[in-house]
Amino acid sequence: MSGRILVVDDIATNRMILRTKLAAAYFEVVQAENGTEAIARTEEFAPDLILLDVMMPDINGFEVCRKLKSNPKTAHIPVIMLTALYDHGDRVRGLECGADDFLSKPINDLALFARVRNLLRSKFMFDELRLRDQTTRELGLGESGQLLVDGTNGRVVLVPCDEPTGRQWLQAIEPRMQVDLSVICDENRVTALEGDQLPDVFVVHSRIGEFGDGLRLVSHLRSRPNSRHAAVILVVPEGDMTRAAKGLDLGATDYIFDPFDASELIVRLQSQIRNKRMSDRLRSNVDDSLRLAVMDPLTGLYNRRYVKQHLGKITGRSRETGKEFALMVMDIDNFKRVNDNYGHAAGDQVLKEFARRLQENLRGVDLVSRIGGEEFLIAMPDTTMEQAEKASERLRRVIEQDLFHFSSAPNGLRITASIGVTLGNPEAPDVDQLIQQADRALYASKSEGRNMVTMFKPAA
Ligand code: GH3
Ligand code: MG
Ligand code: MG
Repeated sequence: MSGRILVVDDIATNRMILRTKLAAAYFEVVQAENGTEAIARTEEFAPDLILLDVMMPDINGFEVCRKLKSNPKTAHIPVIMLTALYDHGDRVRGLECGADDFLSKPINDLALFARVRNLLRSKFMFDELRLRDQTTRELGLGESGQLLVDGTNGRVVLVPCDEPTGRQWLQAIEPRMQVDLSVICDENRVTALEGDQLPDVFVVHSRIGEFGDGLRLVSHLRSRPNSRHAAVILVVPEGDMTRAAKGLDLGATDYIFDPFDASELIVRLQSQIRNKRMSDRLRSNVDDSLRLAVMDPLTGLYNRRYVKQHLGKITGRSRETGKEFALMVMDIDNFKRVNDNYGHAAGDQVLKEFARRLQENLRGVDLVSRIGGEEFLIAMPDTTMEQAEKASERLRRVIEQDLFHFSSAPNGLRITASIGVTLGNPEAPDVDQLIQQADRALYASKSEGRNMVTMFKPAA
């Protein structure tokens, strides 16, 4: 994952240490040595994330954070506050100023990188949401303007380590938040939740003791289609950074050390609910009234008209950020035979299931569209050649490996697809040429036997 990070600290050595660590992990680092400069640099460089010292001589970190978060131009940039103090009051104060997290000095690398990756992921998701919003407006489809979502209500499931702890958590949250709360002390019952029972956020203790294993539960929640979009706050014993980092890598969206201050949990819950709502919107970002104009009614994917407009935005953004992106075209193999042998309605069923599998196996920021009868185009922002190749191969497998079932083929039917991929970067040719490149790669997959991935390679 790449990204531009602004490091703000009045002490040069502190900035150097962070800069070295971050640069070694291939992040681009910009620095500021006081609050005023931090604000100026943020506007100038549009960083993807800010590491912000609290104690500074001119404007302190809290004030800087409040200023950035109240400016619509910079409000979406995640902020991690850095403090020498280990003080719950300070943490809460920082979170209330809009900071996304807190790290105490000396900075633990594991904590730093786990948190940076996690916040960058949600930042990129939000960037994409804002782009889609613009595309919708450019198509003349109304001012959506509802990008800010509320984090004050929602549904939360608590999975504590034992029942007394569950009661404590309830008492901490109930008087202070209008959320629908339930406590479940059993891993199996948690993974069996369905439909309306599914929460926006799970709060899971990493040691759920006799009831199961917290980390395993996190990974289950992530892999099950029902719960994979919910937020998960992992509660880990104070100082157990290894477990916290492992949790984030397994798919937890946040963590908190136990014992915790109730106010800290509340602010974290609110921000997780907001993120969850935002990613829900990203996946079905179009209001019902606009649906017909930009969506394919059969599969619920974006249509050709929308994606053509949006690709212009993705290339524009790549020129701003210097990041690469991938374009993938997929075409179902011998699809005509499905229609011929099983009827048009069966063909439609296959298209729907095909679309579902694509969406289930891509990130929220990837734009999936149906651009022709059995032809799909996927735009993947911030993606390298290796990542694009891996993702295409995964999709190819996901289609091939499980049979497609529909009423006229109760035993299932094997479906495969051919894929062509090309990579875009700030110097890339225009959108139409990129699509042509991906099409040429797709054609190669078809002519070399189908059920294949081909990467477009520019002639040397
Ligand atoms: P190839 O492997 O070369 O891609 O072969 P193919 O049979 O998939 O390709 P071809 O272009 O010959 O046929 C595509 C078929 O897709 C023909 C068309 O009737 C069918 N089709 C297009 N749109 C729809 C649709 O919305 N529903 C159904 N059921 N079929 C569709
Ligand atoms: Mg300082
Ligand atoms: Mg086809």
